[in-house]
Amino acid sequence: MCGIFAYNGTKNSIPLLVDGLRTLEYRGYDSAGVVGINDTGEIFVQKAVGKVSNLATKVDGSLGNSKVYTTGIAHTRWATHGTVTELNTHPHSSSKERFYVVHNGIIENYKELKKELEKKYTFYSDTDTEVIVKLIEEHYEEDLKKTLEKVTKFLTGAYSVAVIDRENPGTILGIKLWSPLVVGASEDGVFISSDVNALSKVASNYVMLEDDEMVIIQDKKYQIYTAGNLIERESQEMDIEYGIDDMGIFSSHTEKEIHDIPTVLENVFSGRVNFGEKTIYNETLEELAEHEIERIEIISSGSSYYAGMIGSYFFKSLAGISVQVTSGSEFLADELLPDTKTLYVFLSQSGETADTRESLKIVKEKWCLTFGIVNVVGSTISRLADMWLYSHAGVEVGVASTKNVIAQIAVLLMMAVSLGQKRNLQHSKARTLIEELEWLGDNISEVLLNAPKIREIAKKYAKHKSMFVLGRNMFFPVAGEASLKCKELSYIHTEAYSMGELKHGPLALVQPDFPCIVFNPAGKFYTKTVSNIQEIRAREGTVLGYVTKWEELGDLYDDIIEIPNTSEILSIFTSLTASYLFALYIAEELERDVDKPKNLAKSVTVE
Ligand code: GLU
Repeated sequence: MCGIFAYNGTKNSIPLLVDGLRTLEYRGYDSAGVVGINDTGEIFVQKAVGKVSNLATKVDGSLGNSKVYTTGIAHTRWATHGTVTELNTHPHSSSKERFYVVHNGIIENYKELKKELEKKYTFYSDTDTEVIVKLIEEHYEEDLKKTLEKVTKFLTGAYSVAVIDRENPGTILGIKLWSPLVVGASEDGVFISSDVNALSKVASNYVMLEDDEMVIIQDKKYQIYTAGNLIERESQEMDIEYGIDDMGIFSSHTEKEIHDIPTVLENVFSGRVNFGEKTIYNETLEELAEHEIERIEIISSGSSYYAGMIGSYFFKSLAGISVQVTSGSEFLADELLPDTKTLYVFLSQSGETADTRESLKIVKEKWCLTFGIVNVVGSTISRLADMWLYSHAGVEVGVASTKNVIAQIAVLLMMAVSLGQKRNLQHSKARTLIEELEWLGDNISEVLLNAPKIREIAKKYAKHKSMFVLGRNMFFPVAGEASLKCKELSYIHTEAYSMGELKHGPLALVQPDFPCIVFNPAGKFYTKTVSNIQEIRAREGTVLGYVTKWEELGDLYDDIIEIPNTSEILSIFTSLTASYLFALYIAEELERDVDKPKNLAKSVTVE
């Protein structure tokens, strides 16, 4: 959450910084700001509430051509402390506008620090961040490096910070604890960014900062320090694959990303599944199978939590391993009873999700086996985990995750089959499943071709204020994820229940204008679910069903979204994809900003 971008070099920093913020906007879009300094210490500051485009308009109208601000820092905000106003927008400054700071994270002890500082300084914002810049002012003694080292000792919480000093133009300091920070170098200068993506078009090399490391950028060069001492750190060559695709023929990144799913699945399986021999072969999974694993605990948040829940059924049914799924925040809140025969699996699109990342650190401290499934290459979780697999979903721009969730579920399925193959999974069962997986992309394409019909149905359901989303067994977490997507994209109140739980209370709410969306593909629980649907119908409830194509429909459903006739496991993927289109089209009908839903940000880097 929150995107930091900074530059020092020969070019005018302001347009570069605004462009950088556009790439980081998925991290927060409450407000954005930029400050640049020229060689004589002259300053250019601009801030705007709302998206980066608002800032860009203001910058265009005020920058002019005559001055070149070769050093600057910029920020796109996801507010944690203080409302969404221009006053609370970063960069924040010291009393005489000498020091400017941008910050990603939360300073947990900001209240007590502020109380003390207020005896001497007047605060203009409600942010926790302003405390940092006032502390710099308070403790400054001719050396910003020493000052920042001292200031961070007062801070409790998470931060990545970039600082500039008007009296030392041409210098930027960056430091991080828990929140991410990447340094990028090009021929003309040095950048700091919250993610490597935003550097892909401007830098040729990059270095990921570790916790408590500081970067000092001066005269187009950078140096990295830890505990005050200079360290050597080899940079990595920029991988061009990091670029953000444009939307092509689609009206949003989210729509494009849903349509990317068949290609994403190809990437997930490529080099890992041998469709000819119907086997799964991957070195990491082979290594994993060597470990004595009696239990699995999956730790994740948001959509990744539902992906984990879906995966738990795979491990149980295919590998005979019992699984617990815990959301990252609850894992942190609970006691850990470390178990060396448990495999702890961490799912995160960004690989930076704060709750998940902190949970991983706690497990590692106890020397237990950790496994990460992340999308962003080189992200913190992949660096910390003992083993990891990438979900290979490609850059996901839409704040509500879609293609990456499908990729995560596919990775979990491969893991379960691979572990199952070393255990009691019948050879023929594994072969049939792998055989089917080869056609999964085509099955998804079939769902995507049904988009116009799904759009029509979505238009009808967009008028409702509340809906239940229901499923049984593996389709309970599918319902959870489908419900989350509806909330995120359309802001309609939806609640997911296990189908069997409906009559234990929630059924009291069912009436014609409170529809039930039911996942009922062909499978083990088809008949039971049909009976539950009858119970809803008997109470005049409206039912939309996700059903397998062959179903004899009768008058069981008010509306149906058909999914291809596949095994139950594969219909998880197809019905989820259909539910993504459904949520997207409801949101479009309600004219929501589907790529950037209100109040949200993509990479949740604060607890
Ligand atoms: N806590 C800071 C603010 O509210 C930064 C927020 C963040 O990084 O998410 O402005």
